[in-house]
Amino acid sequence: MSDADQREPSLPSDTGLEARLASVRQGIADAAQAAGRSADELTLVVVTKYHPASLVRQLAALGVTDVGENRHQEAQAKAAELADLGLTWHFVGQLQSKKARQARRYAHVVQSLDRDSVVDAFAPTEAEPAPPVIDGFVQVNLTDDPGRGGVQPDAVDAMAERVLATGTIRLRGVMAVAPLDQDPRPAFARLRGISDRVRLLEPGATDISAGMSGDYAEAIAEGATHLRIGTAITGNRPPAP
Ligand SMILES: *Cc1c(COP(=O)(O)O)cnc(C)c1O
Repeated sequence: MSDADQREPSLPSDTGLEARLASVRQGIADAAQAAGRSADELTLVVVTKYHPASLVRQLAALGVTDVGENRHQEAQAKAAELADLGLTWHFVGQLQSKKARQARRYAHVVQSLDRDSVVDAFAPTEAEPAPPVIDGFVQVNLTDDPGRGGVQPDAVDAMAERVLATGTIRLRGVMAVAPLDQDPRPAFARLRGISDRVRLLEPGATDISAGMSGDYAEAIAEGATHLRIGTAITGNRPPAP
């Protein structure tokens, strides 16, 4: 990447983006091959939080189809501005129940279902008996810190049942962030075990969203189907707005 930059100092500034995306795609293909899996079963969600809509547009031009955001207002504004691109929008951040009703207007997938009140916000109400149906993941907390997002492993089944009961969320599977201070691979192995349990409740809930910039190869080795990758593709994030 830096070689190309040096040879062609006048290339447009998105050359770095294209190169980083290509490098991550190659990394995904390599990790899939090493795990004896097909890269076709993997969905790359590029996490674009804090970046401007123009960057999402560049990514779409490079073939990206799925993007992830973690703040409601920012996601709502970007999805509206970029409605022409036909992207699949994944919400991956903490959501308040009040915002959840609005999030389903633009988010196709909510990966961070971890509270009863948020799940219930997606259910039909008298005022809105037939709300849009979205895809959902139950977020699992793989740490001992209850302050981190996600439900504790022993509460996942109950949360999955609750999601299924809404009738308006298609349960796709489980999502998690690896603990910061541990080898990610055993954590992802635990997530895989939890995924197996959820599949007993809903055979269609086969997806596992795991793996970020620093640990997506380990996640692929443990069965991840959705990779949420930000900085390895976008470069450093601007500070949170
Ligand atoms: C920001 C974020 C990511 C992407 O993280 P990177 O380290 O930049 O790849 C993935 N998942 C969630 C839930 C995030 O908030």
